[in-house]
Amino acid sequence: LDFLAKTDPAVANCLAKELQRQRQHLELIASENFTSPAVLAAQGSVLTNKYAEGLPGKRYYGGCEYIDDVEQLAIDRAKQLFGAAHANVQPHSGAQANFAVFLALLEPGDTFMGMDLSHGGHLTHGSPVNVSGKWFKVRHYGVSPETEQIDYEQVRELAIKERPKLIICGYSAYSRIIDFAKFRSIADEVGAYLFADIAHIAGLVVTGYHPDPIPYCDVVTTTTHKTLRGPRGGLILTRDVELGKKFDKAVFPGNQGGPLEHIIAAKAVAFGEALTPAFKEYAGHVIANAKALATQLQERGFKIVSGGTDNHLMSVDLRSIGMTGKVADRLVSGVNITANKNTVPFDPESPFVTSGLRLGSPAMTTRGMGVAEFTEIGNIIADRLLNPDDETVAADCRRRVGVLCDRFPLYPHLNMPVPA
Ligand code: PLP
Repeated sequence: LDFLAKTDPAVANCLAKELQRQRQHLELIASENFTSPAVLAAQGSVLTNKYAEGLPGKRYYGGCEYIDDVEQLAIDRAKQLFGAAHANVQPHSGAQANFAVFLALLEPGDTFMGMDLSHGGHLTHGSPVNVSGKWFKVRHYGVSPETEQIDYEQVRELAIKERPKLIICGYSAYSRIIDFAKFRSIADEVGAYLFADIAHIAGLVVTGYHPDPIPYCDVVTTTTHKTLRGPRGGLILTRDVELGKKFDKAVFPGNQGGPLEHIIAAKAVAFGEALTPAFKEYAGHVIANAKALATQLQERGFKIVSGGTDNHLMSVDLRSIGMTGKVADRLVSGVNITANKNTVPFDPESPFVTSGLRLGSPAMTTRGMGVAEFTEIGNIIADRLLNPDDETVAADCRRRVGVLCDRFPLYPHLNMPVPA
């Protein structure tokens, strides 16, 4: 980093400021986390220099012997971690992993089912602005208006009516346990592939805090950078080795060129970390902390979508205090809390305004915070949102955020002074 500061101070300054921002803010975006220094080191390594199209042992370029070793390590650890028969560690992102699944299993014009974006689904699950919504016929299911949880009977009825070739389960803003066995029986009833996108909950799945999709699903994709706490990237897993070969082809040459081997090395490091007892302990804290935050917000009068959380995230329904997600996002940002506005089920507001605020516990749990700190975070958020025009309260919230951040330092080994 000293080297970067000397050779390119403009870029180094951006990095230094971003590090300072990460250190001084409460990071509550449910899809973000802080990787270990070992993951950071692998990402910033000489492996970025190497082309390695193909798979270990079957490359189109020479000089891949050590790259093969590192990618094989990542594959073996991914298989062990998830209990899968086949893993492809090359997708550059969750979106590309998902696209590879569509490419392998569907033809343009085929019908698939996924959850509506406004109820917690992801853009790549059939949004009209994404290729998944442009090339395929999408039939969306949602949550029940009463429970705000998946209504499996509604999913079943829709599947019987629409006869999809593939059904997606797994979401971006759903705080409850997913019943993969129920989805399997629905998929079997209509002869559909079952595809779980566990991008958000992967770290909870591998530690046993969320039911395992692998035994029930034809294919499972995930990102590696959310609860799994690895580098930014994607992963495809299956219990079916023959299907696995189709996914390999759909990744390369189907929709990618050379794999990012420095990221794959960092994935190997992260999978190794996720196999340790310390990671299991971490995942347990992630859930306990999310519950503490949800409980405190409820005690302060806020409504949590579906009445609570079983995982790492929650959506706060702000309609009960007459506020939009956009305003709430601005208010918490002003006191150095990073979160994101989010639609709630049956949201009357547009996706740019929304009625919800999505909050998650993975990142601040990595910094070492526990139930007491997450209870305080709930109080800070409540104090700010319930006193939107009070600048004295805002200043006090900022001070309390600062106290928490100082108590739980981030990357103390990194020395990157921010220029005056
Ligand atoms: N799938 C789900 C359920 C997600 O929540 C996300 C990202 O938020 C993705 C896929 C896409 O991942 P990426 O941003 O790496 O493309």
